[in-house]
Amino acid sequence: HQAHQIEPTAVPGTVPGAVPAKDRILTGDRPTGPLHLGHYFGTLQNRVRLQNEGMDLFLVIPDYQVLTDRDVADRLAEHVEGLVLDYLAAGVDPSRATIFTHSAIPALNQLLLPFLSLVSVAELGRNPTVKDEIAHSRQAAVSGLMFTYPAHQAADILFCKANLVPVGKDQEPHLELTRTIARRFNERYGPVFPEPRTLLSEAPLLLGTDGTKMSKSRGNSLAIRASSDETARLIRGAKTDAVRRISYDPEGRPEVSNLVLLTALCQGRSPYEVAAEVGDAGAAGLKAAATEAVNAHFAPLRARRAEYAQDLSYVRELLREGNARAGEVADRTLAEVRDAMGMRR
Ligand code: ATP
Ligand code: MG
Repeated sequence: HQAHQIEPTAVPGTVPGAVPAKDRILTGDRPTGPLHLGHYFGTLQNRVRLQNEGMDLFLVIPDYQVLTDRDVADRLAEHVEGLVLDYLAAGVDPSRATIFTHSAIPALNQLLLPFLSLVSVAELGRNPTVKDEIAHSRQAAVSGLMFTYPAHQAADILFCKANLVPVGKDQEPHLELTRTIARRFNERYGPVFPEPRTLLSEAPLLLGTDGTKMSKSRGNSLAIRASSDETARLIRGAKTDAVRRISYDPEGRPEVSNLVLLTALCQGRSPYEVAAEVGDAGAAGLKAAATEAVNAHFAPLRARRAEYAQDLSYVRELLREGNARAGEVADRTLAEVRDAMGMRR
């Protein structure tokens, strides 16, 4: 598979026999707002490609995880349905993909208990992504869920025995933890879980308009579903630097290079070529080019999304079906886990 060439993370100790015959993909998005271009170029494109190559695609909408960095899950139903619309618009095929929510899958959530016993408090505490999220959180106190959600995420991945996880760079520590949990479970109780590989894209960390990771909850994102005008306004306000001539230098000029990369991704070109073309037109020229590229690339997607949005009952039906399918898979895995642990059923 092409996927294996992009991110050939070697997995020492993968358990033979526990891996599904065909690759199985699991990934997902918190229902905290509309998907943005970071999602699209970071993971969504890869999901659709892998699905179209015939792999099983599971998409989790982790509604419990919304509570890691806020007191209540705001407008949850609306956000969940919005994510499904974004998936459909991007090419996720509901006849091949299983879309489900945490809260609807009790057996999946139960895996969290044995999984938590397999990791130390110190391991949970030194996760760099969790530290970054705490730094950006508006909450006064850090919740226990903030430290334990990566183990919950291991349950998302392992309940369906996924072996490939297309995600952004922020998820690497969580995938490492997932492999650790799988390995320790297998060593302690016998072979049940594969050790899943991480699949990163060419844009594993797209920056937002403020120069930090583009995130739904940081007010710095360009939504896939945004209008052309809104896109233009947001890009116009994006942070750049004082050097007039545009170049592609992600280390030295992260904000400018991010806009260059975004333009290049939308046009299927090299970022160096885009930077050279904009050249002395400066930040304003770059922003104009980026706006045009984004709006052209996403126009058909936005139109499809608007069509799907006409019929939310279809979206709800897809979620019911996905939850039922994921529930069956989770029940089977939980039964295996309880057998392996010697729990009577
Ligand atoms: P929130 O602010 O609510 O945490 P988010 O924008 O970080 O939202 P998530 O739902 O946490 O989005 O992440 C969903 C997936 O998208 C993950 O695989 C994550 O790695 C990927 N992703 C998120 N932001 C980016 C980004 N800026 N660049 C590349 N990938 C990203
Ligand atoms: Mg996030």
